[in-house]
Amino acid sequence: MQTSNPLLFNWESKFQLPPFDLIKDYHFDEAFKEAFSQIELAIEKIANQANLPTFENTIEELERSDGLMNKVASIFANLASSDSNSKLEELQRDLAPKWAKMDSDIKLNKKLFARVDSLYKKRAYLNITKEQLRVLELYHLSFVRSGAELKDIKQKKLKKILQRLAELGTNFTQNLLKDERDWFMSITDEDLIGCPQFLKDAAREAAQERSINGYIITLSRSLIVPFLQFSPRRDLRQKAFKAWELRGANQGKTNNLKIIQETLLLRQERANLLGYKSFSDFKLETEMAGSPDKVTELLMAVWKPARQAAINDAKKLTEMMNADGTIGDLTPADWRYYSEKRRASEHNLNETELKPYFQLDQMIKASFYCAKKLFNLDFHQIDAPMYHPDVQAWEVTRNNEHVAVFIGDYFARPSKRSGAWCSRFRGQSSMDKNQRPITVNVCNFAKAPKGQKSLLNFDDARTLFHEFGHALHSMLSNVKYPYISGTSVARDFVELPSQLYEHWLSVPSVLEKFAIHAETNSPIPKPLLEKLLEAENYDQGFSTVEYVSSALVDLAFHTETPPKDPMMKQKEILDQIEMPPEITMRHATPHFAHIFSGDGYSSGYYSYMWSEVMDADAFEAFREENDPFSSKVAHLLEKHIYSAGGSLPANELYMNFRGSMPKVDALLKGRGFLEC
Ligand SMILES: [Zn+2]
Repeated sequence: MQTSNPLLFNWESKFQLPPFDLIKDYHFDEAFKEAFSQIELAIEKIANQANLPTFENTIEELERSDGLMNKVASIFANLASSDSNSKLEELQRDLAPKWAKMDSDIKLNKKLFARVDSLYKKRAYLNITKEQLRVLELYHLSFVRSGAELKDIKQKKLKKILQRLAELGTNFTQNLLKDERDWFMSITDEDLIGCPQFLKDAAREAAQERSINGYIITLSRSLIVPFLQFSPRRDLRQKAFKAWELRGANQGKTNNLKIIQETLLLRQERANLLGYKSFSDFKLETEMAGSPDKVTELLMAVWKPARQAAINDAKKLTEMMNADGTIGDLTPADWRYYSEKRRASEHNLNETELKPYFQLDQMIKASFYCAKKLFNLDFHQIDAPMYHPDVQAWEVTRNNEHVAVFIGDYFARPSKRSGAWCSRFRGQSSMDKNQRPITVNVCNFAKAPKGQKSLLNFDDARTLFHEFGHALHSMLSNVKYPYISGTSVARDFVELPSQLYEHWLSVPSVLEKFAIHAETNSPIPKPLLEKLLEAENYDQGFSTVEYVSSALVDLAFHTETPPKDPMMKQKEILDQIEMPPEITMRHATPHFAHIFSGDGYSSGYYSYMWSEVMDADAFEAFREENDPFSSKVAHLLEKHIYSAGGSLPANELYMNFRGSMPKVDALLKGRGFLEC
């Protein structure tokens, strides 16, 4: 093709990295037009061919049909999340329903489904590999779940619903991004009295990022959380907390409540059309949990002891606050402040003392070091154009052979949505050639002022390890078909490789090596390290309550009749479970992006906890060998989990690794609740 559009070139550079320096926003329009038309042509060709269906001429061709779309859409989706602007946002709004339509057009193509269905029906007699059988079954299931077996009139309805849901999800995300970007609180030197230096630095850096003099607090988790932890100014804490809570619920154009209401209604309709009682029944069918009852059982087993622990803690924190001269009830804006004080007094541990030992660069090295010890991976920084000056990249090799490219995008900025995630510019597969992945981790850590080292807290470091665990799942992938590659697994299984990886951050030998003081370069003193690890379960009541309450609200939203007023419904659910008033949901409904920005985690926020039952048990396998880097266990782990993608159902993968499925006790023990 004759074009100057870099999105339409074959990328010849080393590792075939996207030429970020050449890609401009205006290239996407043309590239997407071409990508849509290529898919359409490919699908027509597969569906209308004269040859009888075979795995190769149908399923493999389907796997090839979206090559250009994958390439363009992955760049677009990454930029729209991590370095967005109004042009990309507009395009995103425009594209969301088009993608939904494209997907429906494929899944509801009668001739195409007839081919997939006929292969599926004679699957026992096809001469295909185990992996091919799995891919065929998943394709068939995805056609059926998209309405391929429905009557025309229902199909039409479903198609409309899916397009509208895609629009709603995009609007939800963009409203949230806008609320997060627009709000900030200007403060003075004096307002920051009592706050540690790293917080002042971060507040000044955030102001500079927005060309403002002085200091600001933004709604970025990496800034507002330490502010809530350290600021003695209750009035300012309350002001900031209120803005944080109101994301997506402010009056005006960015209010998400109508979007939520319509989304829940349409999801219910979608499930009913497909023959399911509720959206949860539909969603959970393909997850490990299988049904809403199983999820409720797990969440409630954890809720009871967690709530009790939180209530006990709330009493202690209230006493501290009253002793401080503030009379009245502890509010959610007070919890982190008094909890930090209590941690300092009970464990003789405070974040200011710890923070200099958690340099971002050292923690990146630590995550690489563990990957070397476990999986023999080496990391070499590469100099290639990226999409933002803060972004870094590494080539990943094993025995000098190329494995992947890993991209790290760690700092918060106004053009990035909140949270932390792992994504990819290219997935692994070996169907046509040995295609190795380009994987990216995106975080929202506070950037240090120029010339200083960026520091994390222990939770940030945990997030870094978490996302890197996802990255390993993607980079170590070793399957033939893109459909089941890397992280393409059940949602309640996908957090296993990431949460499991967090365990290596707490291995003493890792911290002794990489927790090095930013100024003195001395390693973390043993007593401080011991205190840190002892206090690891500190405030678990709080974090479990804020998480489980969110998961229960998500589940109720999607199992019960869609509410007219989602906020009333949220209140009802929280009342029912007797939510402690001093704690709020980790993600309240108006900014619960996991479940409303798209389908991904809807009725699936419990997934982290489901995976946690497994990650606690999986790490036990190393403990049983008395070696956190046991090569025997690491080998099994790579073989059955990190490299296996979705080549088998998740419970089979886990059974192959560990021999049996774990019980919830491992999780309760891990969170320090077993004695409650
Ligand atoms: Zn995760």
